[in-house]
Amino acid sequence: MSARQETGTATAHRVVILGAGYAGMAAAVQLAARTRRHGNVRVTVVNARERFTERMRLHMTATGQPLAELSIPRLLEGTGARFVRGWVTAVDADARTVRIDDDRVLPYDTLVYGLGGVADTSAVPGAEDHAYTLSGAQDAELLADRLERLGGGTVVVAGSGLTGVESAAEIAERHPELNVVLLGRREPGADMNPRARAYVRAALGRLGVQVRTGVEVAKVLPDAVELADGGSIAADAVLWTSGTRVSPLAAAAGLAVDERGRVVTDAALRSVSHPEVYAVGDAAAIRQGYGVMHGTCQGGMPTGVHAALSIDRVLRGRQPKPFRFGYYHTPVSLGRNDAVVQFTRPDDSPRRICLTGRTAVRYKETVTASPWPTYGRMKKMPASGAFWPRGGRFTRVRETR
Ligand SMILES: Cc1cc2nc3c(=O)[nH]c(=O)nc-3n(C[C@H](O)[C@H](O)[C@H](O)COP(=O)(O)OP(=O)(O)OC[C@H]3O[C@@H](n4cnc5c(N)ncnc54)[C@H](O)[C@@H]3O)c2cc1C
Repeated sequence: MSARQETGTATAHRVVILGAGYAGMAAAVQLAARTRRHGNVRVTVVNARERFTERMRLHMTATGQPLAELSIPRLLEGTGARFVRGWVTAVDADARTVRIDDDRVLPYDTLVYGLGGVADTSAVPGAEDHAYTLSGAQDAELLADRLERLGGGTVVVAGSGLTGVESAAEIAERHPELNVVLLGRREPGADMNPRARAYVRAALGRLGVQVRTGVEVAKVLPDAVELADGGSIAADAVLWTSGTRVSPLAAAAGLAVDERGRVVTDAALRSVSHPEVYAVGDAAAIRQGYGVMHGTCQGGMPTGVHAALSIDRVLRGRQPKPFRFGYYHTPVSLGRNDAVVQFTRPDDSPRRICLTGRTAVRYKETVTASPWPTYGRMKKMPASGAFWPRGGRFTRVRETR
């Protein structure tokens, strides 16, 4: 079957944005709002679904809690950006085209790569075949269905990072009939200060979550997990939250990627191998003074906005500015009625201040609900999206000679 090649207007500069997650949406709205008046930039957003996936709420989806219907095409209305629903199957970085699963081919002059990441089920045998994940809304819905039907038994949450903690707490709260076991190498909240960490541990205990740390999962079976020390735990469902991996599309396209497949960028968020490609969010390896950023929404949205600002500057013949971002918090839900918020230094190390209980619940909900209204505001006032902590001395990258 021959591919259908789409062509834009002859003179318009074609910007194609891959992925309308937290970072891709920020890039799309910011760029469309900034370039609308020029009339010579055509922004196209490609995403697997029309409905925006609130990834930060997927543990709620996994426990059957309905989320708001957030329509990407509706949000883009009036911005001039065009929405294409489809699954990206390839990027041809030489021909500067993107292939979609319905065989459409979209040419670009500038590409924004924001395909995010998914749970890494490749590291342990059986995880891919037998474990549930929170990689996308459909994966979370599959788990919700399974949990609803169980009526009793054991759910193992593999991975004691923050996604594992939030998921174990949510499942235990919503399904008191289930025995929830949280397994991992490290203590839940290991990167928090001692008070916040103790709070997380106590909250999990109150919800009846059994926590086992110092544990390595060796294999996932249809009805159990096998541990590296030779033990095993019977499981009616396993949720895999340990580690993330990114789409292989960037590496396959010949873009320079790091050991985890993320697109390596320069300070302006351009690919170091293909400067017409910008990378944002979890799919990008972005160096700051403290090291390479790790995947979060708090950092992902600023990368999207900054990529848009860089593209706009380049199109107007100006130099893009270096991107700088410092972390400021780690908000963690512990079911619907409890939470902890660890405030951090720009390098993500914990400060002494943290919030707990109802105040933390309100803070966490405000943060989780904020991206969508932020996009709405940016449509009218693009500058309103450009505020985030730059991180001072923590984020200054020292040049090595
Ligand atoms: C349960 C959970 C709780 C979290 N809580 C927090 C939190 O409290 N604070 C925080 O900062 N971060 C949190 N995170 C992390 C945060 O969600 C991610 O860092 C963030 O989603 C990254 O944004 P992104 O735009 O890079 O990717 P995503 O939001 O994952 O968006 C990627 C988009 O690309 C689409 N896509 C992927 N591949 C293709 C393809 N081939 N073709 C077409 N479309 C494709 C996807 O469908 C998706 O719409 C949480 C994550 C999880 C799982």
